[in-house]
Amino acid sequence: MQTTVFDLVDDQNMWRWSSAWFDLYPVVINLPPSTLDQNRGENLVWKDSQSNNTHFSSGWVWNNIRRCDQEVPWVDLVWFAQCIPRHSFHLWLVIKNKLKTQDRMGIWDMGSATNLNLMCCPLCRYNKDSRDHLIFECPFAMQVWNKVKDIAYMDSVDASWASIMAWFEQRASSKSSKTIVSKLVVAAAAYFVWQERNNRLFSQNHQPSSKIADIVLQTVRFKLMTFRARRRSKNPFQLERWKMQMKTMDIDTG
Ligand SMILES: [Zn+2]
Repeated sequence: MQTTVFDLVDDQNMWRWSSAWFDLYPVVINLPPSTLDQNRGENLVWKDSQSNNTHFSSGWVWNNIRRCDQEVPWVDLVWFAQCIPRHSFHLWLVIKNKLKTQDRMGIWDMGSATNLNLMCCPLCRYNKDSRDHLIFECPFAMQVWNKVKDIAYMDSVDASWASIMAWFEQRASSKSSKTIVSKLVVAAAAYFVWQERNNRLFSQNHQPSSKIADIVLQTVRFKLMTFRARRRSKNPFQLERWKMQMKTMDIDTG
């Protein structure tokens, strides 16, 4: 990596690649000889997809070679500076409807040993689960949602996934502390309901909906405790109030 272009050109301006490079990068065989100006230093240049020579940086190169689709309206719901990364990744799967829910498993060939007709939601034992059922139309998940939504400033939003997404799309560009709390609570609620669903499916661990709601709120509160109010924030004490409000609630996460 210490080799410069000058090192690769001989006195007659011919390339002197090592034989290993010919094997690894056959393209160098046909490179025309290069005339170098000994008085100029070397610098790294990236030729972008429009053949413009630009300053090289790994970030620029990544943005140049990756496929860029149109920005989705929910991008700020999932990815934001204060997010909890594992909750955001899970929420991304939720939005893309990529969780391995029972309705989706039904379209796979599971073999004759698995009777998909016997599957039912482990939370309410009624019918197969699905993304919309678990978040949060299932009676169990709805109890979780109903306990956390008021505190998340979403009291007018019902338990349907479509309602939650519509509510956020109206606030897509909002960076208010209330919206940050709302986003954290929704992501945490989706995450912990899914965890409880899996625990019931694969172990004997059962927790009541009130406990799951408490874990959601406590997790968000812990996250908020790491925030500092911005100096020029319109409402710098909003998060402080939320933290205090949560502190005085009877939360059992033990
Ligand atoms: Zn259910």
